[in-house]
Amino acid sequence: MVNSKKDYYEVLGVPRNASQDEIKKAYRKLALKYHPDRNPDNRKEAEEKFREISEAYEVLMDPQKRALYDRYGHEGLKGAFREGGFTWKDFTHFDDLEDIFSGISDFFEKFGFGGDIFDRFFGNRGSGQRVRQRTRSSPGEDLRLWITLSLEEIYNGVERTIKVRKYDLCSECNGKGAKGEGWRTCATCGGRGVVEKVSSTFFGQFIQRTTCPTCYGSGEILSSPCSACAGEGRVKTEKTIKVSVPKGVREGNYITLRGQGNAGIRGGQSGDILIYIREKEHPVFKREGDDLYTKIYLTPSQMVLGEKVHIKHLNGKKIKFKISKNSKAGTKIRLRGEGMPRIQGGYGDLYVEIMVKIPEKLTKEEEKLYREILKIEKQKGEAQEVFG
Ligand SMILES: [Zn+2]
Ligand SMILES: [Zn+2]
Repeated sequence: MVNSKKDYYEVLGVPRNASQDEIKKAYRKLALKYHPDRNPDNRKEAEEKFREISEAYEVLMDPQKRALYDRYGHEGLKGAFREGGFTWKDFTHFDDLEDIFSGISDFFEKFGFGGDIFDRFFGNRGSGQRVRQRTRSSPGEDLRLWITLSLEEIYNGVERTIKVRKYDLCSECNGKGAKGEGWRTCATCGGRGVVEKVSSTFFGQFIQRTTCPTCYGSGEILSSPCSACAGEGRVKTEKTIKVSVPKGVREGNYITLRGQGNAGIRGGQSGDILIYIREKEHPVFKREGDDLYTKIYLTPSQMVLGEKVHIKHLNGKKIKFKISKNSKAGTKIRLRGEGMPRIQGGYGDLYVEIMVKIPEKLTKEEEKLYREILKIEKQKGEAQEVFG
């Protein structure tokens, strides 16, 4: 029976030195030709032909199998197929078929292959429940980082350099996780991800489905994982990233660096980096929303006589303002537009609260003058001795 088999090169109509591309093209052409739906009059033959070209394709696309075949003919492939000879379970190019027939949407639904692996493989295509593609790659995780900023940095905007330990695409396998072809259809489940066990009981036959123990439901097995990344398609690295923090951010705000998080597993989409802002407490200014609050300490004579004073702001610039005569302790002076910058533009206000500073040690002269002031205050009835 083995000897009666046709030559694989003849089956695909390619020369013995054909490149993989030529083989692919030839297979594509023949696959379209022997599409059973296009051959309603001799469907059985078409299906058989389809199986034949697929077998040839499977062998000639695999460098190892092809080499065996070139040296020993069909005999050389005796051990290459699971059941002694080629079955659909050995076929690892379903993706190519999907590509070829992608325009023919109902191809796989109709194309039964007599209950063979083929329709089982694609039977649930419509419902989008193909486990296979889902588990091969998965997206990378988002990374969350925190940076603590001073009020000065927030006021002025700042650029920070941060070291991040994260997963990057493996350059050895370019994220594929495998050398060469890498992925093969799982032999145990034929790529379905589930195995069925038929049990006969008094009540009839029951089919029990369980997750395939070989591939854990993915339907595929990595036969030659990349050694640099152990098949994950990504490796641990330390990266230095630059972040521009806009003016006016607040505690709890975060900056998103899209696609700069962990690389995905086996080519999956990269995650993001989220940089959360923490605000350091300031010794002089207190922030509430976009407004700033501060206190200045004035002596009694400053408060009584009034004065021009200034505050050094968060950007180093001096803000001048006037303390009016007879200012009261606890008065809040509002300086418009001198608060924190708003992300959407503009500035909040700065509130300056006046506090009294009593001189700690009086000179002889100061004491003399204070006594004179007190005398006058008593004459005016302002300095009280009796309360309540
Ligand atoms: Zn790798
Ligand atoms: Zn499996």
